[in-house]
Amino acid sequence: MLQDIRSKIQNRERISSDEARWLWMNASDGELREFASTVRARSHEPSKCTYMLMRIINYTNVCVAQCDYCAFYRLPGNPEGYVLSQGQVFAKLDELLALGGDLAAFNGGFNPHLPLDYYCDLFASVRARYGDRLEFYALTIAEFMYLADHAKLDYSAAAQEFKDAGVRWITGGGSEILTEDFRRRHSKFKYTVAQYLQAQAAIVEAGLRTTATMVIGFDESIDERIEHLERTRQFQDRTGGLASFLCWTYKPYFTQIGGIEIGTEEYLRHLALSRIYLDNIPRIRTSVLTQNERALEGLLYGADDFDLPMEDEVTQKAGATISLQFDKILNVARELGFQPIYRHVVEAGQPQ
Ligand code: SF4
Repeated sequence: MLQDIRSKIQNRERISSDEARWLWMNASDGELREFASTVRARSHEPSKCTYMLMRIINYTNVCVAQCDYCAFYRLPGNPEGYVLSQGQVFAKLDELLALGGDLAAFNGGFNPHLPLDYYCDLFASVRARYGDRLEFYALTIAEFMYLADHAKLDYSAAAQEFKDAGVRWITGGGSEILTEDFRRRHSKFKYTVAQYLQAQAAIVEAGLRTTATMVIGFDESIDERIEHLERTRQFQDRTGGLASFLCWTYKPYFTQIGGIEIGTEEYLRHLALSRIYLDNIPRIRTSVLTQNERALEGLLYGADDFDLPMEDEVTQKAGATISLQFDKILNVARELGFQPIYRHVVEAGQPQ
């Protein structure tokens, strides 16, 4: 079996779900690294990697979705609930620019008190104030769906509203594990897989950019992980709209379900499997946010790109730690043999 899979990869053929499962169960770390590096080299120079300095802006922590793996949200009426003003958002963006970053990602909750106008005004103001000096990911797919439903708009109309407000990106956050059973177990108010993919397709059709994400380390099975990868690969075959794939790991502290974090070794193996399986997504990203410096080892397991994050309350509330010693982190990439190159999301007004 190993030799068959090696031949397929060398011949640029796609591996099947069964072969992915076999690799996960049987391949050594070295074999996964080898195969992932072969696929990576089709679209990236082996000794180079790219990165961005970014900040996640958690504009509200009020949420009614009640995912049992989330330590961030507060229900409406909770005195710890908040909504950031435009002034507070601008202050965070100014800090980001001062540190040399140029990407912000807005991520909050399903807040029933915020109308569509709050978002459209916010995004239009950010675009007007900063122009192309920075780019922003406006919301995740899951938040987008909630807002559209709340405003009684179909996904196409909602995507157009955001586009008119200056939005260029709605990222693939909120996918976690894309199986219906996982969502029934952990996030039954966060939409089905079918709805999620329908919304993402509408976003692509509206001419907005989007990405694929995944979170591992809950209680999902290997079959569920592979199903997620398969749905992602199919979506990309159908739409070509996914700019990248980012996987990170669940942080269990202060969440309802708790649990124990998976080790970096397991994360790296999954990154490699993702690179091998997702042969139609050239940019595979590794998560400094949840794996810190060890995320850079992901470059050896097929990843080619990463963020240096300044802030993300969602994962920090659940145990993630963030270092602003960016040079130290970049040096880890250099020590592993990679030349890190800053990747601007904004290039002459054309996000990539
Ligand atoms: S993960 Fe997101 S949608 Fe789920 S409860 Fe937390 S903030 Fe709400």
